[in-house]
Amino acid sequence: MRISIKSKMILSNTVLVLIFILILVFSSTIIFKREFNNYIMENHKEASSKIVNEVLELFIKGEPTYEDFYNIGLKAFDSGIVLMVNKTYEKQLICMSDIFPNDSQNMIQQMEKTMKSVYPYFDGNYQEDIYVLEHEGEVFGYVTIGYYGPIYYSEFDVKFLSLFNKFIYMSGIIFFIIASVSIYFVADKISKPISFVSNKAKEIESGDYSDIIEFNSNTTEIRGLIESVNSLSTNLKNQKKIKKQMLQNYTHEVRTPLTVIRTTLEGMQDGVFEVTSERLQSIYNEIERIIGLIENVDALVETSNLNIKLNKKSFDIKIIVEKILKSFESMFENKKIIYKLELDKSEDYIFYGDEEKINSVIFNLISNACKYTDINGKVKINLTKKEDNFVIKVIDNGIGVEAVEKDLIFEHLYRIEKSRVKEVDGYGIGLSICKNIVIAHKGTIVVNSEVGAGSEFIVTLPITKNL
Ligand code: ADP
Repeated sequence: MRISIKSKMILSNTVLVLIFILILVFSSTIIFKREFNNYIMENHKEASSKIVNEVLELFIKGEPTYEDFYNIGLKAFDSGIVLMVNKTYEKQLICMSDIFPNDSQNMIQQMEKTMKSVYPYFDGNYQEDIYVLEHEGEVFGYVTIGYYGPIYYSEFDVKFLSLFNKFIYMSGIIFFIIASVSIYFVADKISKPISFVSNKAKEIESGDYSDIIEFNSNTTEIRGLIESVNSLSTNLKNQKKIKKQMLQNYTHEVRTPLTVIRTTLEGMQDGVFEVTSERLQSIYNEIERIIGLIENVDALVETSNLNIKLNKKSFDIKIIVEKILKSFESMFENKKIIYKLELDKSEDYIFYGDEEKINSVIFNLISNACKYTDINGKVKINLTKKEDNFVIKVIDNGIGVEAVEKDLIFEHLYRIEKSRVKEVDGYGIGLSICKNIVIAHKGTIVVNSEVGAGSEFIVTLPITKNL
């Protein structure tokens, strides 16, 4: 059975609150009644001993009269007590139940009725307690206290008890209503953004990344969830854009040489073009370009693999940089680019990683610096060891990259329009390969750049131990 988070929260919390209230109501009722009964019994004991003391006082003062006993007996009725005073076991001085047999019986019956109205199964009956009237060793007689026991409530007690019960049950109901309303609001507050996020996820699933979730929540987890879904949506949106751009670039990269080949061949077939070695060379160059593209895509596929295989060994980064710079010497010279390598000669630059792949990263960056820097430009390679990292910086004062394109240039087949217009040789794959290789070495690659001022590509490689 599928049930919404809101209903689930409302249901489970309401049941919990209900159980809590019931336990609270019943336990407080039980505790209160126990304390109340103790209080009633204490009261009865107090009333009994007061009557016994009054009778004893009469004996101590001197010869008590029948009228004295009668008055005390009448007062005792008010406390629900039937008084009997005996001189000895045989000689009775007064017995109120004999004087008022009907009233005494009615009083006891009424008490029984009252108790049964509160406790329908109350097991009570008429009981008597006998007290010895003794003062300084002299026994004057006995007082018998007759009552309905083991406990009895007055009308007032019953009213008080029912008022208390009403109060407790009403408090329980009011508490339950308040708790239910707040549970509803809390559940609504929590479930609303979740259903927002869920709907957005469905939209993303169906390919709609247009809007982001504009929902403010002060719940940390929900805020995190919204932020993640929004960034997922933005990323997918960017990826979609990149894919589209990639496909356009890819078709462009393949179509251009193929068109050149086709038109040249058609021209030769129709006799429009003469078959010259230059024309055959140009066809050959275009085919080379397509092969180059395919090789680059292959390299990209290989390094895109999450489990990219690294042939790790220790090697000197400094030597690699120097070798690459040497191979670019003539290219730099052709463009009259001044280049220099900055490093601390006393430092060792031994790195444990895949030499061939790191070589291709540095090669690519230096090649780009050369390609995207105009004649008479400057290129600088800076090598440093910072804490546990090697930092390789390739800096040029070339055409630069626009801020919006700083991340995009690391995407497959992405070439900045300008570099294409300028017809600089390239496939827009090199930096993606660099990024994959650097990530495989648990490093980072970033670019700082300004259009027209130049670029600074920074590769940071963590120095790991040779295991
Ligand atoms: P490409 O083969 O086109 O050079 P890359 O992946 O190496 O492919 O680079 C992607 C794009 O990034 C390039 O087309 C270029 O527009 C831009 N780029 C790379 N390096 C530089 C640089 N040093 N200066 C300016 N733009 C650069």
